[in-house]
Amino acid sequence: MMQRRELLHAGAVVLLLGRSELAHSANTRNAPSIVAVRVWPAQDYSRVTLESDAPLHAKQTFISQPPRLAVDIDNLTLNPTLRELVAKVQADDPNIAGIRVGQYTKSVVRLVIDLKQAIEPQVFALKPIEPYQHRLVFDLYPKVSTDPLTALIAEQLRQTQEADKKLPPVVNGPTGGKGTVGTGHAVPEVIDPLAELMARQGKASTPDAQSTHATSSTQPGNIPPELIRESTSGTNRLIIIALDPGHGGEDPGAIGRRGTREKDVVLRLARQLRDRINASQVNGHTLRAFLTRDGDFFVPLHVRVNKARQVKADLFVSIHADAFYTPRPQGASVFALSHGGASSSAARWMAAKENKADLIGGVNIETQDVQVQRALLDMSTSAQIRDSLQLGGAMLQEIGRVGKLHKPRVEQAGFAVLKAPDIPSVLVEAAFISNPTEEARLNSASYQAQLADALMKGIEAYFAKNPPLARTRSL
Ligand SMILES: [Zn+2]
Repeated sequence: MMQRRELLHAGAVVLLLGRSELAHSANTRNAPSIVAVRVWPAQDYSRVTLESDAPLHAKQTFISQPPRLAVDIDNLTLNPTLRELVAKVQADDPNIAGIRVGQYTKSVVRLVIDLKQAIEPQVFALKPIEPYQHRLVFDLYPKVSTDPLTALIAEQLRQTQEADKKLPPVVNGPTGGKGTVGTGHAVPEVIDPLAELMARQGKASTPDAQSTHATSSTQPGNIPPELIRESTSGTNRLIIIALDPGHGGEDPGAIGRRGTREKDVVLRLARQLRDRINASQVNGHTLRAFLTRDGDFFVPLHVRVNKARQVKADLFVSIHADAFYTPRPQGASVFALSHGGASSSAARWMAAKENKADLIGGVNIETQDVQVQRALLDMSTSAQIRDSLQLGGAMLQEIGRVGKLHKPRVEQAGFAVLKAPDIPSVLVEAAFISNPTEEARLNSASYQAQLADALMKGIEAYFAKNPPLARTRSL
């Protein structure tokens, strides 16, 4: 009742002030309006973003039957931009079934997000940061999330089954029966990556298998116990290389003059490198690639590191494309973590720029796993940095054969994404997207293939000098 009287009062004031004062009057009351809406579907989580010219105030309720999130936003009028949200939901969104919007009362907009499964929603506001105004973010995490190693096993299983279809029926597949895993091949030394992956999961210890976000539990993985082997042959083991395409989702990364987005070119490059890794062996060891994101969605920096640790990656390669204010700078650079200060002011600048990804991509700081962050920072990293410098050096040498180098040596700075204390980690800036010639090269399929080949050769050269040993890490 009180509210209605206030509204009437406000109406009277508007009448008195006349039309020219209307805009000013609305402004002083900070009535927001929606300027953009976005939906980012992904297996990990689906995100809905409402961008407005003033902060939004919302209350949300999760209803479990059928699963949906009802959101009331105060002091808002439904506009055509907000209505666009309804059509932005894709049929194959793993989490969102649909979105409904309506003017619930004169001043309240009600949004209902219909869900495909039980969800742990995280709702948070983000302050304006280039290129965005105020954002209200709904991150919809599946209540039971898939841990990265389970995802890697599922992918491997799919590949194995596809390969089995093409083989004569005498060869045992992974589901061929008790005790047949890993014996489908004639030579006993040849590893079965699926069995090795399952063995790793069977041995995954709790402290290491942290959930990648704060609220949801991790699925234990539906792997039949008879498929999990204790260990694999001592002469051959699986080497996992985590590939980390930078940015994604709300964070486009650098944008070239012709509109090329860093997040797109680095994902294409990572997928090309994945194919090469999955088809390779080093010293008889089987290689498998794991992507920290295989789609257009944002992954916070510490989650990228955690995912690599959860799959017990042997190497971590973050892939980016530089930008500068002026079009001239060109060439590739490779970065490693530094002990203390950065190796140059340019490297420090680059790390600060890349570390800003969380601000643009949008992280819910309230649920960020502070303990994980601290543990990563406290652990010794000298061995990691030494190996990272070798890996980076090998990559630079190979990239230099196919393209220009911005700096001939591996630079060092405090990149958040390189902080896994136990995994040699490098960040590759493949080229300058702000340089028109390099922007065109980044978009060319043949140059992408050359770059992927060069990175692959760099990885092989690193392993030639640093043969993979049995795992001695105590995680
Ligand atoms: Zn980047």
